[in-house]
Amino acid sequence: MIKKYYDKDCNLDLLKDKKVAIIGYGSQGHAHALNLKESGVNVIVGLKEGSKSVEIAKSQGLTVMNVPDAAKVADIVMMLVPDEISADIYNEQVAPHMKKGDVLMYAHGFNIYYNLVIPSEDIDVIMVAPKGPGHTVRSQYQIGQGVPSLIAIYQDKSGKAKDYALAYASGIGAGRAGILETTFRQETETDLFGEQAVLCGGVTELMKAGFETLVEAGYEPEMAYFECIHEMKLIVDLIVEGGFSNMRNSISNTAEYGDYTAGKRIIGDQTRKAMKEILSDIQDGTFASNFMTEFSSGRKTRFLSTRRKEAEHKLEEVGKELRSMMNWLKK
Ligand code: NDP
Ligand code: MG
Ligand code: MG
Repeated sequence: MIKKYYDKDCNLDLLKDKKVAIIGYGSQGHAHALNLKESGVNVIVGLKEGSKSVEIAKSQGLTVMNVPDAAKVADIVMMLVPDEISADIYNEQVAPHMKKGDVLMYAHGFNIYYNLVIPSEDIDVIMVAPKGPGHTVRSQYQIGQGVPSLIAIYQDKSGKAKDYALAYASGIGAGRAGILETTFRQETETDLFGEQAVLCGGVTELMKAGFETLVEAGYEPEMAYFECIHEMKLIVDLIVEGGFSNMRNSISNTAEYGDYTAGKRIIGDQTRKAMKEILSDIQDGTFASNFMTEFSSGRKTRFLSTRRKEAEHKLEEVGKELRSMMNWLKK
């Protein structure tokens, strides 16, 4: 089992005489910057001039600089920009200003693990990765709680890399919930596998296949949407709250019997074989290389066309109509 750490194991004072630059002010960036600032850490936000995030960060009381200037004054640089442009930003605008003893940080191991960034040997390279979206990292901190986070050490020049990771994790509130130590390899590969095979790729195709099967068999699309898509959240909420057994306690005996008899006919040998192939593409760098090629060539091969085609699917039209009937979902 993974070793866990809490605030009592963290020394936030390690950051007291350091300047921390948060590069990017999106989902994770805003939460890290504001939480650290309220934990007493000296924070600067690094952004591209004219970016829409600049005004937001300033209005929330933060000091904003362009990326090279932020990197210049900082001792610790946390890269919270989109993964596909992170290496270019680091290599061109940050790396020239990293001095001996500085700390380079990430919230996801992608760029380091796949060697898109080769950090100089005289800095520490660490990860603090909250296991939740940025708005939860922020809102939990504000009510005195935190989101469990992973830490990992890639390079420990100072001999204090783990202490820095623990201090930073504590500063964003993670030490209130628990900090789990892992490696760049495990975090990167399991994160990519989970989102591809299960959370994003797997779940959406499963729901879409169920919807299409019912519609092709002549059932009303509204019925198909309710049963195969909308109700997913009710089931997942029960699993998140108390695991599979909790979910199975809440559903009918009819549903539970169907669960046991049908599940393995849906997820059989073919799916498990595909999962192994997906994992292997992640492990040998095939996925990372395809992803970077697609994004550096303007996302024209698959990304934008698939996004457009998916948005035009019948289920999106039906879903929009049904959601408009649910008052509690209206923004
Ligand atoms: P977002 O897309 O939400 O935010 C990206 C930020 O980077 C924006 O503020 C954007 O500013 C800024 N940015 C874009 N281009 C540049 C540039 N050239 N120079 C400087 N700043 C720029 O990213 P996330 O917070 O989702 O992801 C950041 C990292 O955190 C990634 O490594 C991701 O894998 C990781 N992560 C994300 C999680 C999440 O919940 N989203 C969870 C755990 C880890 P603007 O748009 O105004 O131009
Ligand atoms: Mg991910
Ligand atoms: Mg039902």
